[in-house]
Amino acid sequence: MEKICPRCGISSKTAPFAGNFCENCYPLSVRIPMAVNVLQCKKCRHIKYAGWSAPTPENLTHIILKQSKGKVASARFDKKNSLLAVEMDSAHGTFIKSFPVEIIYSPSLCDTCSKSAGSYSEAIIQLRGNKEKIEKYIDKLQSRIRRKTFISRTVSLSEGIDFYVGDKIEALRALQNFDLEYLRTEKLVGQRKDGRRIYRSTFRVRF
Ligand SMILES: [Zn+2]
Ligand SMILES: [Zn+2]
Repeated sequence: MEKICPRCGISSKTAPFAGNFCENCYPLSVRIPMAVNVLQCKKCRHIKYAGWSAPTPENLTHIILKQSKGKVASARFDKKNSLLAVEMDSAHGTFIKSFPVEIIYSPSLCDTCSKSAGSYSEAIIQLRGNKEKIEKYIDKLQSRIRRKTFISRTVSLSEGIDFYVGDKIEALRALQNFDLEYLRTEKLVGQRKDGRRIYRSTFRVRF
C-alpha cells in the first residue's frame, strides 16, 4: 500500500519509509550539533582528542557524538562531505540518516610540538613606552589571543614586553579589537617545502 509522508509529502513508491514517515522525516530522538569546535596543532595537524591525536574520521566521530544527545547504534563522519552518517534503531527497524556537521578548527600547538618548537610563532607583539599602559593592555591582549590560538613565549625587557603569538591573523585581530596603533614589519624566517616563503610579522605598539 502506498504511503504519503505527512511532513514532506513524498510517496513510499519513491523513498524508503519508516512507519508512517519517510526516513528523512522520521521523528528522531537524537540531536547532533550543527558545528563542533576542535583545537588543531598548526605544526603536526593533530587535534585535541584523547590527548592529541590524528584527525581521523573515527576521532572526529567521537568528538561529535560527545556533544550529541540521544542514542545511536553507530556513526561515521565523512570528512570530505562533512556529513555524519548515523545508524539508528527505531520501532520500525534500523536506518541511516546523515547530518551535516561543520568542524571548526582553532589553531593551537600540541604538547609535543610546543616542546620542540620552543618559540614557534607567526607574530611577535612588542609593547613599548608607558609602563602603566603596557600593564593595562598585556592581560587584555593575551587573554583574547589565548581564546583563539597560543602564546609560546612572553619576554620582559627593559624597554617593554615581547610576546610570541601562534597565529598572525589573531595577533592582528586582537590589536584591532583594542584600537591599538602599531608599526608592522615582516621578517623572512624560512621556507616551506613547496617553496613558499614564511614570514614572521612584528607588531610594535608604542604607548
Ligand atoms: Zn518526509
Ligand atoms: Zn603538533
